[in-house]
Amino acid sequence: MIENTDEKLATVKSSPDKESHLIPNVDDCRRCNTKNCLYVCPAGVYEWDNNEQKLIVKYENCLECGACRIACAKKSLIWKYPKSNFGITYKQG
Ligand code: SF4
Ligand code: SF4
Repeated sequence: MIENTDEKLATVKSSPDKESHLIPNVDDCRRCNTKNCLYVCPAGVYEWDNNEQKLIVKYENCLECGACRIACAKKSLIWKYPKSNFGITYKQG
């Protein structure tokens, strides 16, 4: 039985592009009080860098579930599917 997020992510094959398919609005993220994206992402893609006051996006780990697009407090996150031949493949259906 799969116990934790790292084990679950190991069941997914990822072919990341060189460019992110998730593009946050830098100014909106600075002004965002809730930072919902940090809490809804099942893959831990988003981290807030307090020193730089910017969102770190580890798009390579994205599972393409779409939750961050819906949850973005400012509705300003640009969300696209990765280009053809990039992104994830679910190995177990
Ligand atoms: S919820 Fe949206 S605006 Fe807020 S930090 Fe995340 S991406 Fe930026
Ligand atoms: S689409 Fe899903 S997995 Fe990808 S960054 Fe958004 S919440 Fe995380």
